[in-house]
Amino acid sequence: MSVLVEAKELKKYFDTKSGQLHAVDGINFQIEEGRTLGVVGESGCGKSTLGRTILHLLESTDGQLFFEGKDVTKLDKEGLKALRRQAQMIFQDPYSSLNPRMTVSQLIAEPLKIEKQLSKADVEKKVLELMDTVGLARRLFHTYPHELDGGRRQRIGVAKALAVNPKFIVCDEPVSALDVSIQAQILNLLKDLQEERGLTYMFITHDLSVVKYISHDIMVMYLGQMVEKGPAKEIFDTTIHPYTKALFSALPQPSIHNRQERILLKGELSSPINPKPGCRFAKRCIYAKDICFAESPALEEYEPNHMVACHFAHEINK
Ligand code: SF4
Repeated sequence: MSVLVEAKELKKYFDTKSGQLHAVDGINFQIEEGRTLGVVGESGCGKSTLGRTILHLLESTDGQLFFEGKDVTKLDKEGLKALRRQAQMIFQDPYSSLNPRMTVSQLIAEPLKIEKQLSKADVEKKVLELMDTVGLARRLFHTYPHELDGGRRQRIGVAKALAVNPKFIVCDEPVSALDVSIQAQILNLLKDLQEERGLTYMFITHDLSVVKYISHDIMVMYLGQMVEKGPAKEIFDTTIHPYTKALFSALPQPSIHNRQERILLKGELSSPINPKPGCRFAKRCIYAKDICFAESPALEEYEPNHMVACHFAHEINK
């Protein structure tokens, strides 16, 4: 399988009154075609900024980002236009991301405006096909978003993203605003679409059950940096980084024989503004030693394809 998206030392900083906020700070990853990379971490860890930077909705501060082998940080206006067709986004809150004055058909037809050669009849045909694809009944063609439930509104979001036949979709918390039963329907729809169309996803969420269900690979972020990454099953079966262990300990265990103590994180959260050298998790880590406060741990291969950034990964997991 070929690599569709690759980030090398990708950074996105914001200037604030108190200094420079390192929202995304040197992220490296690859996503192969047809696979899903789940991105997890607490709110404020930079995962949504990462998604927006990858789609060029935010300009990166530094680093490289490749789409089908081309560095998109160097694309001109035309190149960026082409990228916008190939890479789309599904947003968290379908209600606020949809114009309430537009009908379902107008909303889904919106991204098709760039297809100048399409006639009105072509657009209508395409909208109906997209409605079928995402499971929206055709009778809803003239309805408005406020007349629909959250699940149907998110189906509009999925249809809009699919309208220009993208290869890659960033799904930013696409089910977190939905009821649990509807979450499953949308997740299954995304999975089916991936199988049918070979789509590649970056799936951003704080919900570990969701990320476990949908992802092939998982990246764990902490204060703008990647602390652990690997195949989804391995990350869930063998968590290595102390932060991942704490995060995953909150997941309900299916068996009473397999109960794991919930690890409550204590200590102060480091500031992502002008961060000091050293491990950003050090103030909350029970294993921290002097070196953790002085030197940032490098991301290293713990096992094949399983990367961890911790000075004491091997000692902690003996
Ligand atoms: Fe904890 Fe040190 Fe590892 Fe950071 S590098 S996670 S502080 S042991």
